[in-house]
Amino acid sequence: MQLRDLSRQYQALRPALEEAILKVASGGSYIMGDVVEELEQRLAQYVGVKHCISCGNGTDALRLALMAWGVGEGDAVFVPDFTFFATAEAVALQGATPVFVDVREDTFNMDARDLQQKILQLERAGVLHPKAIVAVDLFGQPAAFPALRSIARQYDMLLLEDSAQGFGGSIKEIGRACSFGDIAITSFFPAKPLGCFGDGGALFTDNDGWAALLRSLRVHGKGSDKYHNMRLGLNSRLDAIQAAVLLVKLKALTDYELAAVNDVAKQYDSALAEIVMCPAVPEGYLSSWAQYTIRLRTSYQRDIVQQHLKAHGIPSAIYYPVPMHRQPVFANDNLLRRSDVAMQEGCPVTSQLCGTVLSIPMHPYLTSEEISLVCETIHATLS
Ligand SMILES: *Cc1c(COP(=O)(O)O)cnc(C)c1O
Repeated sequence: MQLRDLSRQYQALRPALEEAILKVASGGSYIMGDVVEELEQRLAQYVGVKHCISCGNGTDALRLALMAWGVGEGDAVFVPDFTFFATAEAVALQGATPVFVDVREDTFNMDARDLQQKILQLERAGVLHPKAIVAVDLFGQPAAFPALRSIARQYDMLLLEDSAQGFGGSIKEIGRACSFGDIAITSFFPAKPLGCFGDGGALFTDNDGWAALLRSLRVHGKGSDKYHNMRLGLNSRLDAIQAAVLLVKLKALTDYELAAVNDVAKQYDSALAEIVMCPAVPEGYLSSWAQYTIRLRTSYQRDIVQQHLKAHGIPSAIYYPVPMHRQPVFANDNLLRRSDVAMQEGCPVTSQLCGTVLSIPMHPYLTSEEISLVCETIHATLS
């Protein structure tokens, strides 16, 4: 069994994938080009935004968005304390200061109430300018965008949606993941809900000006031709082979994979809800289930469950073991200390989650037998 079985997906989609890849290989155009443009159009249409700008990976996508907004030194950017490192790394690489916000223990996503408090604390300290919020659609589930959007508006901040894990999710009557931020990003890292055969990423926005700027920034800040450089940018382009793979996988995701992972989640919910804490999906929200993450009562219990699963050949993983504010690079950062030491300590829910969460196998090709084995093993361990 695998946490996310990419070779089973390959077997299921093999003829279409191989045809698409060979077509690019024989076509002679390997970076950007027609296939990449077709992908960008399809993605923009599916998500429901005006512009999709593909790029080299999700981390670059975050950086490009912050570059387009001119985020830099002296700016505070609010980031969830419970996320993959790249979310905070991109902010710090631009010279801005990530300010960590606690998450909700039921959804794992940014807690709007704690965000309010952190903004007020930051304003009182008066050292940094509150510039943007990065909300992460963690494990596939959209963050609480209605609440986060109104806070962004109240404090005149930009809202960046890190949907690296969230592609395919949605909020009823509001829209699909990657349409909630002023700019949204996703990642096509192989294990994400929409993954390619290497690195890839994309940005989404309705804003024409930012879209034009992002198209320039991803190719060394080019002007109307590539040997006139208007600004400093990155080399962050998508390969045609990855776009061809993504076109095939996008169809599978929307045709049946999204339904399949939600079916797996339902089976886990009904078999496990009595003995562990299962992830909560608020009314009207749809997750694309990048991970199915349970919570145990204690770290000790979590470690025992993980050991028993392993003994039965079932992989599991701890996403994530360390809160962002405890990562050595941030814990020792002088700028963070200046902004307010106490503030960086105040994410108790994240600390609790890091000690008790466990992600179990989740992908569209899990069989009922495998799901039963996972659930029975957890039951046997805890009873
Ligand atoms: C994977 C991930 C990223 C980075 O994406 P890459 O394509 O690996 O650079 C950023 N944010 C989150 C939340 C992620 O899970």
